[in-house]
Amino acid sequence: MRATDSLETLLSVQTLDKKFADLERRRDEIPSVKADVSREITALEHERAERAEALEQVRLDRRRHEGELEMQQEHLARYERQLGDVKTNVAYSALLTEIQGTRRAISELETEILEEMERREAIELRIREIDTELLQKRAAAADTLKELDEEQGSVEREMAALESRRNGMVSEVSPNLYRLYDRLRRGRRFPALVPLRGNACGACHGRLPPQVIREIQHDGQLHPCENCGVLIYIRPGADAAGDDSEQGAEPGGTAARGAEAPRA
Ligand SMILES: [Zn+2]
Repeated sequence: MRATDSLETLLSVQTLDKKFADLERRRDEIPSVKADVSREITALEHERAERAEALEQVRLDRRRHEGELEMQQEHLARYERQLGDVKTNVAYSALLTEIQGTRRAISELETEILEEMERREAIELRIREIDTELLQKRAAAADTLKELDEEQGSVEREMAALESRRNGMVSEVSPNLYRLYDRLRRGRRFPALVPLRGNACGACHGRLPPQVIREIQHDGQLHPCENCGVLIYIRPGADAAGDDSEQGAEPGGTAARGAEAPRA
């Protein structure tokens, strides 16, 4: 196929398509970035609710233990009053045993209450930390989420602009050539247009028959690579003899950007 006239334009289309694909990727990525930003906050809120529940449990335990302590202290006072009234040694020593048991119970309850106070303090400290962190994270997230929303809007606007520019360009490319390109692109063969590199395909580096190279070099023809299927091209007047820097690794980049210049 003779495609020299359309080639420059199609290369520009390919550059736009590359840009478009990058924008599309970013657009699709933004929702999950937003979810990540909110995820930390949700986790902290969840932890705070758990801590608050634990705090309530400690408060209930402590109140119960304080009630029990008060009761044991009343028992102890009563036993101590009774000490003066007992008549027999047996009764006296039985009462002493009761007093010892009650004192032990009181001591255990006091220890538990002390531990509950410490536990409460630790939980309250963590809740204060969480509240500070939540305050900061919510403020930071609000900014980040706003930025992401703005970015999403600008990405979508840029995509729309590229699309209308692209439509104008495509109308200048010969329909047959564009169909070839579009089929490759839709088949995820991208970039679809790849420069000849030395005697090889710029995409898969497969060597091309001399006849094919002559066609590409001298007649300005595009030729499908039999190995990987891309369309191999050389710009009229360009020298493909191993010039990697100009025609090399990024066919959609350097080469095609140059093609836009005379049209701008
Ligand atoms: Zn190839």
